[in-house]
Amino acid sequence: MGTKFKAYSSNNFHDIKQLQNLSAGTLLRMEAVAKVLPFRTNNYITDNLINWNNIPNDPMFQLTFPQPEMLNDIDLQRVIRLMKGDKVKLDLEIRKIQMKMNPQPAGQLELNTPSLEGTKIKGIQHKYMETVLFFPEQGQTCHAYCTYCFRWAQFIGIDELKMATRESQELIGYLNEHPKVTDLLITGGDPMIMKTKVIRRYLEDILKSKPGGLKNIRIGTKALSYWPYRFTIDEDADDLMLLFEEIIDAGFHLTIMAHFTHPVEMDTPQVKEAVKRIISRGAIIRCQSPVLRHINDDADIWMEMWSKQVTMGMIPYYMFVARDTGPKGYFNLPLDEVYEIFSSAFNRVSGLARTARGPSMSTKSGKILVDGIMTSNSKKYFVLKYIQSRTPELVNRVFLAKYNPVAVWIDDLEPASKSDELFFPFMKQHMQLDNGTLDDDFDDEYAFA
Ligand code: SF4
Repeated sequence: MGTKFKAYSSNNFHDIKQLQNLSAGTLLRMEAVAKVLPFRTNNYITDNLINWNNIPNDPMFQLTFPQPEMLNDIDLQRVIRLMKGDKVKLDLEIRKIQMKMNPQPAGQLELNTPSLEGTKIKGIQHKYMETVLFFPEQGQTCHAYCTYCFRWAQFIGIDELKMATRESQELIGYLNEHPKVTDLLITGGDPMIMKTKVIRRYLEDILKSKPGGLKNIRIGTKALSYWPYRFTIDEDADDLMLLFEEIIDAGFHLTIMAHFTHPVEMDTPQVKEAVKRIISRGAIIRCQSPVLRHINDDADIWMEMWSKQVTMGMIPYYMFVARDTGPKGYFNLPLDEVYEIFSSAFNRVSGLARTARGPSMSTKSGKILVDGIMTSNSKKYFVLKYIQSRTPELVNRVFLAKYNPVAVWIDDLEPASKSDELFFPFMKQHMQLDNGTLDDDFDDEYAFA
């Protein structure tokens, strides 16, 4: 018998007893933001992860609760005004603000959806040669929503932006037709929101038929942080552990791509138990997160996070640069600062934690690492390199961009010389997919879920 999950959204967040100390004005502003950006938290987070004596600065509060500054003041005031009046007008205004916030960076839906026998397969994305992403239809939500999530269109009912599939048969067909695909990343939302029997239904045929060249199964999830009971005392947690074993017994490598944003998420007895159980079944846990202002923009936090991950038996994997979507102005950090945070954490942890890679931008043509900042002839440059690309010849080759202290993304940078232009992702010839469609800005693993 598990602990009962209780979700809080904009409809019932006034029930959270710890919020009752906040002023009516603050609550109203939070409610207005929650009308625009998806908001969902739960009783595990409110009772275990948030330090309510440190509101609003507490990182987990920032991570899961809407903050007034996430909208510009004009939009915020307009929503508050309309909340008192006509619902149709309010809904129109909300949708207008949402669409300004780039809900799906770079048209990922259209541009990265592969085809099988001439028909587009919904729910599958194929960007890099070796990895296919699968979005099970029933895994398109999460135990809580991260305020910075770039997949937020999936949660606010913009139907045409949803990515999902009901059947795994098309996936199997696609994998059989693309034997170079070795990795399947099951993502969402958060696939761990699904009951085990549903996940089993998606995976069973794959385990039996071993399609194409598939070797590794990755599951992107933030459930370790937002609902660790999923792996311990939920009613089908034991069955989930059994399924993990079956995946491994069928000859696949199983990695849980865990999304931990702050070390406090790894401190509870519940998450410690969950990690132990997963590892004891033979799965590996790799950890990743974006770096974000207000939440984890401090090298000490990353040092602590990576060290704890190693101690608990997990593998530090990626630090991502926050993407161009949602309330990006609230979370963005200059690349210069992000690089310093990474370096200052990286150079103080043991070699075992130096499996962490980053800071990495998932761009139109691949993952670009900010690998250094250098000076030559009194001029400063960013040293960059692809660690993943649709154009394999570009991978691991260093290139330079002119230093820009306020740049937050590759689009803010200029090539340092003619020869560096080749590496810039907005050059169309590097955006060509194998099947002739244009590449997009989709990230395979920033799926934390
Ligand atoms: S980042 Fe992952 S867990 Fe967080 S809201 Fe987005 S999909 Fe859900």
